[in-house]
Amino acid sequence: MKNNTQFHVNGIVIKEQSHGEQGKLLTVITEYNGVITVNAKNARKISAGYLKSTQVFAYSNMLLYNKNGFYTLLEAELNNDFYSLREDIETFAFATYACETVAAVTTEGEDGKTLLSFLLNTLFICGKNVLPVSQQKAIFEFRLAVLCGFLPELEYCQFCGEPLDSIKNKSFDLSEGAICCTACTAEEGENPLSWKPISDGCYKALRHIAFAQGAKLYAFRTDENTLRELGEITEKYLLPRLEKKIKSLEFFHSLEGKV
Ligand SMILES: [Zn+2]
Repeated sequence: MKNNTQFHVNGIVIKEQSHGEQGKLLTVITEYNGVITVNAKNARKISAGYLKSTQVFAYSNMLLYNKNGFYTLLEAELNNDFYSLREDIETFAFATYACETVAAVTTEGEDGKTLLSFLLNTLFICGKNVLPVSQQKAIFEFRLAVLCGFLPELEYCQFCGEPLDSIKNKSFDLSEGAICCTACTAEEGENPLSWKPISDGCYKALRHIAFAQGAKLYAFRTDENTLRELGEITEKYLLPRLEKKIKSLEFFHSLEGKV
């Protein structure tokens, strides 16, 4: 990106802070420039033309001015304000977590088109309120891990080579990212503590999340127990692979059992 130029870019605001008398500093995940900080002068003035575009979760086409790597918002055309995400505390907590996590795997100057589009789909489904939040979170975590290059071996046992869908008792090594027959892990003298037994339903859900195309990603139903197991696995699988601590996860968990 050349310095001292104006350019248009699609982006979603993931954080807003007061800045100066009437302005805001926005953290924005963009299509082509990764995560950037944008100075939105007068964004707290009711007369500001881009008022709605400077709020958290707002997705807009922005006209930015880049001066030596400092970005100023000149104009914005709102595509979606995702307002419904603010109407329920659990939904809001998950959406905040999703934004912070995607930002953690995106860096400035990087082409973020795939991740931005994944985040938009996540927020869109979340705002529709058609799936339990815990299921959305599990889908988000595992698919994000796959998008970041952490697809575990889901087809065959790495020890005996048998197709995993024909094996009844399976275990998942979360640190290595492999699912194997439970019998093989014992035979191979693997440390049983690092292998977590997983149910068939959970295995099928993981495969679905890893490979489903388009809107089918969100089109699966599962029972409560499987969902709990799935959620535990996806969070434990994703988090150690991120280089940053995700602060908003604590807030999300603090709501559990309360909403
Ligand atoms: Zn095996």
